[in-house]
Amino acid sequence: MDKINLDICSQEIVTYFSNKSLTNKNVKLFHIQNNDQPNKSQEPTHLNTMNLIYRFLLYIYKRNIVASICKYIMLKNIIHKLETSKLVETYKGIFSQILKRLNEIIFECVLTAFNGSNYDNYLIINCLVILLTKLKHKISIFKKNSSISTIHIQMKCNLPQLQNMSQTVNIKKKLKKNSDWLMSLYIKDIRHLVAANMSLDRIGKLFNLPVSKLCFPYEQASSIKRLKSLDSLCAEDDTFWKDTFTGKTILLEDRLHAQSIFDSINCHDLYEYSQYYLVQDCVLLHSIVLTLFRTYLSQSINIYLRRNFSQSNLSFQQNFVIDPSTQIVQTLAPKRITNKYCNYFFKLGVTGGLCTSFVHGDINSSTLINEHLNYISNPNLDFNSWPNFQNLTPWKKFFMQKPTGISTIDIRSLYPSASLKKIPVSTPLIYNRFTKDDHHHLLTRGFAPFLKVSEFCENVQNDGNHTSDVMMLVNKPPRFYNEYNALQYYLSSLPKDITIIRFQSYFTALGQLYFAHYPIDGYLTYKQQNNIYIKIIQYQSEYYHGHMPFCSVQNDKAQHDKSEKREKIKNSIINLYTHLLEHFQINNVSFEYVEISDCLFENHRIPNIKPFLFPYQKKYTYLSFLKNVLNNNLTGFLIVKNLEIKKNQQNPLFGFLIQKVEYEFKDLSPYTQSLLTHFTSNQRVISLHKTSHFMVISTNYFNWLYKTFGFENTPDIYHAILFQMDYYLKNSIESKLKIRKELKEKIKAEKNIEQRQVYEIESELIKLMLNSCYGFTLCNLTSSKFKCFRNTQTLPKDKKRMSKIKTSIQLSPNVFLNEYIVKITDPFETMLGHVGSSILFNSKVILLKRLYFLLKYLNPTKAQLLYMDTDSAHFLLHHSQFEDNVDENLRSEFIALLPKHFESGSKISGVWVYEGFYTAAQYIGEKCYVLQNSLENTSLSHMKGLNHFFQNQFINQNINIKNMTGINYNIFYKSPDFTIFKSAMSKDIFSNYIPIKRYFVSSSGSLPLKL
Ligand SMILES: [Zn+2]
Repeated sequence: MDKINLDICSQEIVTYFSNKSLTNKNVKLFHIQNNDQPNKSQEPTHLNTMNLIYRFLLYIYKRNIVASICKYIMLKNIIHKLETSKLVETYKGIFSQILKRLNEIIFECVLTAFNGSNYDNYLIINCLVILLTKLKHKISIFKKNSSISTIHIQMKCNLPQLQNMSQTVNIKKKLKKNSDWLMSLYIKDIRHLVAANMSLDRIGKLFNLPVSKLCFPYEQASSIKRLKSLDSLCAEDDTFWKDTFTGKTILLEDRLHAQSIFDSINCHDLYEYSQYYLVQDCVLLHSIVLTLFRTYLSQSINIYLRRNFSQSNLSFQQNFVIDPSTQIVQTLAPKRITNKYCNYFFKLGVTGGLCTSFVHGDINSSTLINEHLNYISNPNLDFNSWPNFQNLTPWKKFFMQKPTGISTIDIRSLYPSASLKKIPVSTPLIYNRFTKDDHHHLLTRGFAPFLKVSEFCENVQNDGNHTSDVMMLVNKPPRFYNEYNALQYYLSSLPKDITIIRFQSYFTALGQLYFAHYPIDGYLTYKQQNNIYIKIIQYQSEYYHGHMPFCSVQNDKAQHDKSEKREKIKNSIINLYTHLLEHFQINNVSFEYVEISDCLFENHRIPNIKPFLFPYQKKYTYLSFLKNVLNNNLTGFLIVKNLEIKKNQQNPLFGFLIQKVEYEFKDLSPYTQSLLTHFTSNQRVISLHKTSHFMVISTNYFNWLYKTFGFENTPDIYHAILFQMDYYLKNSIESKLKIRKELKEKIKAEKNIEQRQVYEIESELIKLMLNSCYGFTLCNLTSSKFKCFRNTQTLPKDKKRMSKIKTSIQLSPNVFLNEYIVKITDPFETMLGHVGSSILFNSKVILLKRLYFLLKYLNPTKAQLLYMDTDSAHFLLHHSQFEDNVDENLRSEFIALLPKHFESGSKISGVWVYEGFYTAAQYIGEKCYVLQNSLENTSLSHMKGLNHFFQNQFINQNINIKNMTGINYNIFYKSPDFTIFKSAMSKDIFSNYIPIKRYFVSSSGSLPLKL
């Protein structure tokens, strides 16, 4: 094909694929033996299943050969151009990478699967492993927990055409090497591209795709023979449709619909109907995949090229890497941190959302609002921060109002709006606290920073003194700020009417660009009035590159050599890009080699345009350090001990210090203790007035607490990991929020159904991307959840190699599947844990600000906080409107502030949104409650880990939690040796669901725990 001109052919292929639409006939089904024929019925056996899977694999292999040829025809020109250029001679740099990826794509094949309950991959995996091992091919299986996320199959020689798998033993390699066709097949689960907990038809509905909702009487599928003997769906027969496994009942109207399809396509038996059912599934999956692909492509994201098949990974790439490379305002990216000490603290700093049940049991119109406060003594609150308590003086038994109902509110897009705030960029400055004596010894004996951290820390704990202790920098501060300044100097000189296409440097997420084998300090592409400009920016420091010819300072011998080298590199790069423009016949692009040299500036000093780092000292006295933190001059994370907010700010309703702590049975109230049958001490996120022992806290949260409530004692800081903070994600997220808002308006106005559907999908995908943008930063790289299995024909005899295998399963003679031991270098390493944890702290500040607003103004005799989870809250109200529960003297102030905290204002995210109103509720525990509206006869239940079927039963049958000790249900159990079977589970549910995150005075009231 290299010798033929394929241009016309390539064009035809593109046209063909663009116009091709999919029908049911394009779906290929595989049957066991000849079961597709009406009079044949062969039950599945190990051997005939293997044969089926082999035919499936062979089919894909053949198709991939055709696909490879098509891809080659389309890519030939660009590959050929690259191969014949001087740019790839060194096999290094950006052009070689492009070439390499293009060559990979030709043989790469992605099979998308959708595993609702994640058992589909399990069903084929054992056969695939046996087959491929016998045929001497490689297969790798990647698992996250018990689900298979990716299967990767590598074939280096042709698959033989076998009729029967028992022949594999006799295969001899006769084929010539050059006749072999490569295939790199990925079987990917696309569940995570949308949301892992959604079924295929729910996604179809989410995207408004034409879903023909079909049902199938699974219980009847006991054998092929049985399926072939049934000639009707028996739509009206309840026992026929009974599903004893899941306990679900399928609606009669859905069954009748299925029967009408059964009749209209002239099915003879259930086997034929099952084929139709499977085809529909595939067509729907195809439609979803194509929809996702097209929508992402319109945002310049090619999911297949990037190999990212999870929403959080995709979102991470887009928000942290790709979007920031299209601007020059935020040019300092967060860097991955490999320091164990830091990563350990970030890990401690990661606290998920706060989920607390403030009450326990039934709440209805006879409940007294905040009744438990009648039994506590006057909290003596400061009336500046708690004006609503002023109206309760003198303190006596006020709390006897009855409610009209429960108002539920949510914070809109909490995590996206937390990502809009400043996050850590670049690398950290680490400070430790030393006692006066230790500091003195260090000065005289020299310094080995991480050697005795615990010892120094212990000394501070024992003899710490705020007036004499010292905070000292213990790591090397971030480097290369001259290079950074040089780049900033150049960027600030650019014209304003340009559109940045890409900027990358050592400081950005994409890192330094290699132009062939030359590292480039700054690479910039921009567009100005239809012309494209590419700037290759080099920082020529006097120290490394000598003085420039125009400089008044003469080079000495060494500098002269450096100077010559600099000129040589410059000429080589200029030659390369001149070649690039000629070779690819590029006309509208102007290249420029920009040199920013020290010699350009007075005294050879580059002006500081934009700070690389806040001003800092290597050493502070303890109190001046604290002062700098409180003034927001030093930002990042602190490790503090026993932090307590001012006593006269400690509102009995809520603790504003959110901490992840482990506490014991004895810390719970007698009320809670009496309810619990067992208690496992575990780490939980709770809200307190005083932190327990040590806490990692962001300076942002720390300062908000200080400004809002103040601290009871001088805060006791032991360590600090400081960062330059910047609005790194702001542009990217705000533009997405804006696009989404515009799409919403377009959806309202659009009359064309198809066009409206396109907008809806786009808007939905943006929402998904925004919500998962921080998740990947916390991804624990060394988590034991991630496992990798590979096949081998024999086990290694060598002890050393054997020791690398963690587990091994023998699936057949000469077929082994091994799990390999992953060397853990840093047990706490994450992608960007410090960023994720900082976003989580930002989200807490937003939540607490919103919550404080309500708790500050609502009269506690008229409103009670009942429940909250991460970004939502339930309030029990005397009057149904919030503002009516605010005392007269505070109401105008409250109303004036409403737009700042509720969606009525201009803010589009991070504000309260009204969700619903209910007349009664039952709070069983954290993540387990039922809300009911008797007026509208509606209900909302939330029971973690229990399916909808059970929850409906709970409400309809009015199940009493006291009589109900456990429930039984069935699951598909996936065993570690890749088999799958049905199993019955029994769960002791409600004894686990006692609220345990508060100190319960009575069932209708609780106080923050004191640890
Ligand atoms: Zn000079």
